[in-house]
Amino acid sequence: MKPFSRFAAIRNWPRTMLTALVVVLLASVLAAFQQGQHIARERLEASFDRSSISRLNLLQRELHSPFLVPEVLTASKTVRALLAQPNPTAANEQSRILEETALNTHVDVIYVMDLNGNCLAASNWQAPDSFVGKNYQFRPYFQQALAGHSGRYVAKGVTSAKLGYYLARPVTLDGKINGVVVAKISFDALSAHLKAIWHQDEELNLVADKNGVVFVSPLDAFILKSMTPMAATQRKTIESSRQFDDVLQPVAITPGKLLAEGLRFVEFAELPGASFLQKAYAFPDLELGLFLHVPASHYWKIVAQFTAMLTLLALVVFLACISLYQRWVYSAKLIETAIRDPLTGLHTRLYMGDWCQAAIQTHNRIPSAAFGLVVFDLDWFKQVNDKYGHLAGDDVLRRVGQLIRNAIRGQDLAVRFGGEEIAVFVQGADLAETLALAERIRQSVGQFMFQSKGQVIPVTLSGGVAIHTVGESLDALFSRADEKLYEAKERGRNQIRS
Ligand code: GH3
Ligand code: MG
Ligand code: MG
Repeated sequence: MKPFSRFAAIRNWPRTMLTALVVVLLASVLAAFQQGQHIARERLEASFDRSSISRLNLLQRELHSPFLVPEVLTASKTVRALLAQPNPTAANEQSRILEETALNTHVDVIYVMDLNGNCLAASNWQAPDSFVGKNYQFRPYFQQALAGHSGRYVAKGVTSAKLGYYLARPVTLDGKINGVVVAKISFDALSAHLKAIWHQDEELNLVADKNGVVFVSPLDAFILKSMTPMAATQRKTIESSRQFDDVLQPVAITPGKLLAEGLRFVEFAELPGASFLQKAYAFPDLELGLFLHVPASHYWKIVAQFTAMLTLLALVVFLACISLYQRWVYSAKLIETAIRDPLTGLHTRLYMGDWCQAAIQTHNRIPSAAFGLVVFDLDWFKQVNDKYGHLAGDDVLRRVGQLIRNAIRGQDLAVRFGGEEIAVFVQGADLAETLALAERIRQSVGQFMFQSKGQVIPVTLSGGVAIHTVGESLDALFSRADEKLYEAKERGRNQIRS
């Protein structure tokens, strides 16, 4: 037997099955890709949320102690005295106190304003850009404080031109507001922190005011640009309060695919060639917004890893299927070659044993279920080989096998039990029926035109017939049929004896 080739087995796979497996494989790659996208989105969203909390903590830390400064100063006796009776000596004294307080609390500037918005005292009173004597009535934080609230406001300093966060508190005397204390905080520390993150991980964190105007960014290109489209009324308010002296430009955003609410891909003209995944957060308490960005490659890396992993898994399953199928084909082939002769297509002795045992047992039990046996032997077959060659002999055997298979019924059994010897078991047949079948086979072989290289090969066969008797062994039955075959040979061949 030829060694069984594994690859030949795959080649022999039904086309539909191969197509189905390829489709399944492709589908699993696609499913893996989709699942990868899902996982990547969830992971990055969670990481964004974690970052937003840490950035918020950072902002709150930056703002916490400055927050308390105006709060505490509103209760100060000297502030109240100055507002009750403004005079240069008290103003200078107050400015000195504010200067010291600013130094100790890491606040940029602290100042006291009267009800008209005039700055009476300021921590930067000795600096060239001192706030003392300036009027900041137009600032919303002043208006908010006058209305009794905490004023919160991000703006570019009118005097210093420096961006800052303004916190204002009203000073109340005998139930009446008579002035405002303001602390201005710079975001230098936060800015440095975000810069470091940008340089390390290329994560772009932008802090914006409630209108989406960026005022803290690791990259200058984003400063004082708006991240969200701005309504005309919003723009007007910004201009009238002189929040930012420049004409505000929007950030040149090219929005990409939206992955989830608030989570999308973006590209910036300010950063050509870079693509980011963006998530936006709003902190209404602080009147601030946060725009977090990670390079889009972070997302695709997770997708690729996951897709590769699942594809690999699918491939392993795919290969396991191939291997299992091959094993099945291999064992099916082994069984087939064990029970069927490859040249003639007739059964082998191995199969004959099982078949006969069952047939004999049935007949022993049911006496009417007899079966007949014909033992055939090709006449002068050695001469056929000698004269026409072994290959022609093989061809004759193949044809004879075919003729016999065509002649018998489904329940009968034809066995090649020797080189050119064939046994036919005829199920449920008596002598007459078995003889008739044997005769039909003899005639069909005798009449068939066997040819080799244009020459006709005369082929005949002889046969001996015996009918199984109850209790008889297979060997005994065989030798009775064999005797008859011998008789047929003796009597001149090309005949059936019983
Ligand atoms: P007889 O009429 O007495 O049976 O004469 P015979 O020549 O058929 O008898 P013998 O037993 O002397 O020869 C049988 C021949 O069958 C010998 C062998 O070369 C040939 N043979 C057996 N198996 C095969 C086979 O598979 N292929 C071919 N080509 N020849 C085979
Ligand atoms: Mg023989
Ligand atoms: Mg012979």
